[in-house]
Amino acid sequence: MIYLDSAATYPMLPEVQVAVSEAFHECFANSASSHLLGEVASHKVDCVREQLADSIGAYPSEIVFTSGATESNNIALKSVLLGSKELQDKKHVIISAIEHKCMFAICDYLQSLGYEISIAKPNSAGVINRGCIEPLLRPETALVSVMHANNELGTVNPIAEIGELCFSRNILFHSDAAQSFCKTPIDVDDMNVDIMSFSAHKIGGPKGIGAIYIRDLRKRDLQPVIHGAGQEQGLRGGTVATPLIVGFGEAQKYFKLAFERLREINPRLYLISKLEEENIPFIVNGKAAESLENILSLTLPKTNANLLVRENENIFCLAQGSACSSKEIEASHVLSALGLSRELGEHTFRVSFTHEITYQDINTLVGAIKKAAV
Ligand SMILES: *Cc1c(COP(=O)(O)O)cnc(C)c1O
Repeated sequence: MIYLDSAATYPMLPEVQVAVSEAFHECFANSASSHLLGEVASHKVDCVREQLADSIGAYPSEIVFTSGATESNNIALKSVLLGSKELQDKKHVIISAIEHKCMFAICDYLQSLGYEISIAKPNSAGVINRGCIEPLLRPETALVSVMHANNELGTVNPIAEIGELCFSRNILFHSDAAQSFCKTPIDVDDMNVDIMSFSAHKIGGPKGIGAIYIRDLRKRDLQPVIHGAGQEQGLRGGTVATPLIVGFGEAQKYFKLAFERLREINPRLYLISKLEEENIPFIVNGKAAESLENILSLTLPKTNANLLVRENENIFCLAQGSACSSKEIEASHVLSALGLSRELGEHTFRVSFTHEITYQDINTLVGAIKKAAV
């Protein structure tokens, strides 16, 4: 199987698998227990917390482990807004039109509580910049949320300039860094980010673990997402998942090397040059100044998309740019925000590579696209 869906989940790195498996044996104790083995587990968790904090210019006390970026995004909006007394009369939130789906569900919920939500449209390159946000700001804006890198296009948004804007207006700024973490540098101070979401399984770590950074966490009133026995500074109850956190830590260490390898292969460039060589018409969606090397959103107007998927379902794992809900095919909200018609949306694929991709694999893909010409 040729795996072309690393943006949905990156296969777990072998080093991480070994570390997780060892941790299940050696760090099985409850990290809240005061005996020796409890302390061993607790120490492991603290080391990873420190490592993550260091890598983004934060303090360990500002990091909370969660089940993944979806939960972190929930905390970023719900816990922060609903818990804060200061923000009680600020009931306006801005998110971008190209956020991960979960952000829209969270905002629907906030709307049901009386919040107003504004959706910022990207520019024609698929990028959200300062100019997309500024006209939407209001005196009662509590929070702006713009993802760092987009999961369908691979585009990296200039979040430092949005952070600066929010800082100057005293508005909280959240950024979902599930895709960008360990792929492009992050510094929460330089970027003026107040809250940031992370996920381990997008960087070769285990599923079910992630983290959130919250600036000055201890000084804030936050509503817990899970009321419990005080774990994770009272924000998220439940026994801490030590082996998964160990895996998250190892993924942070090893993923950078894997991604270096992917950069050297430069599969996007190779795929594009092959399509040109074979005279296959294509459009690349999202043209940011910076974009992630593992993701390419391709519209193939002269390719029978259904045939391509059907004929090759045992050969490739590939994400089609339209979400099939029941029998209806809808263009994804990201492609719609870019102005892609439903028809072109159906001809759109997100190709997302791992560091194990070979030129031979890409030749196979291009051969299959050629065969599915209309
Ligand atoms: C995958 C992803 C998520 C969801 O992360 P989980 O850890 O699976 O909950 C959120 N945002 C972005 C940008 C993602 O790519």
